[in-house]
Amino acid sequence: MNFTLDAQDRHSQARAATFHTAHGLVKTPIFMPVGSLGTVKTLSPADLDQCGVQIILGNTYHLYLKPGLEILKKMKGLHNFNGWGRSILTDSGGFQVYSLDGLKKISKDGVEFRSHWDGSKHFFSPQKVVDIQRIIGSDIMMVLDECIPNPSDMERAQKAHQLTIEWAKLSREAFFKSNHLYDYPQFQFGIIQGGIYPELRHESIDNLLKLDFDGYAIGGLAVGESLKEREQITRFCTQKLPSEKPRYLMGVGTPLDILEAIQSGVDMFDCVMPTRNARNGTAFTTTGKLVIRNSTYRSDLKPLDEKCQCYTCLNFSRAYIRHLFNVNEMLGLRLTTLHNIYFYLKLVNSAREAIVDDEFQNYKNSFLAEYKS
Ligand SMILES: [Zn+2]
Repeated sequence: MNFTLDAQDRHSQARAATFHTAHGLVKTPIFMPVGSLGTVKTLSPADLDQCGVQIILGNTYHLYLKPGLEILKKMKGLHNFNGWGRSILTDSGGFQVYSLDGLKKISKDGVEFRSHWDGSKHFFSPQKVVDIQRIIGSDIMMVLDECIPNPSDMERAQKAHQLTIEWAKLSREAFFKSNHLYDYPQFQFGIIQGGIYPELRHESIDNLLKLDFDGYAIGGLAVGESLKEREQITRFCTQKLPSEKPRYLMGVGTPLDILEAIQSGVDMFDCVMPTRNARNGTAFTTTGKLVIRNSTYRSDLKPLDEKCQCYTCLNFSRAYIRHLFNVNEMLGLRLTTLHNIYFYLKLVNSAREAIVDDEFQNYKNSFLAEYKS
């Protein structure tokens, strides 16, 4: 992936790096907006560009069901289909299948599940998930893994972690046995599982490193464990991962979670929070969360965030956006989503600049001093 370490913080694990995909440079730490169905809800590729987005997330489970593989193949991949010219990472679908309560059956060969659309039966094996991601044409594909709920006892965590290792081997084999379908290479990341148990995480990392993935993701967090547990496990994993490969913490999190994890040496993040919260009328701002429906903002002429330079904040008042939400106008969802994505990208870009300038701790402290969670 041509991964280059641009700077390493002297006082923590925080680092700034650059890697290449066929669709451009990615400068880390980076936040990847979630576009499970091939779209970051309410935003166009031009909007994403304006927010400084370098890479978005798609989802294998969702895209496999709709629009389906036939269309994606015909369109020569997701980039061509959705008009997004920069990088795409696709999650394997493991987490989505895990979330389908009662609609799944896991065996050593893979996972059988029913579509949440129409109840139809499907089967994902580690190999099939590679093939699907070949058809999607994502720049970075993830391996199939088994996610477990928190809390899970050691025995349950051990079983899932063993299966995830077996699947990782099969996924890596399938990756090398298959070819990319379009005229650019793809990369593959492994996923570390093991719940909140350091010994399992350790074993998971040892096994994945042998398979020499292009990058490593820390999975199975942000599923209800305490903040302290998450931080401990994250730090435990980053310390054992090679410095010359990207590290991705899946599904995390709030601005504070992200800064903590950057400090622990994580490079990549994704989370539904900025987009989902925006559609509920919650904006992330320099001073904390702002719930736009509150009557306090009825005639407030200030922008969502007074320190923000995004299109929304430069042009619209809280009063107007509140009005849009109150009358169910779609523009309200769009403007708030645009602001939140801009805010998250600014957060990680500023962290990057601070790391390069050897000012990360100061940056983090001054962000926290202003931000009320
Ligand atoms: Zn803004």
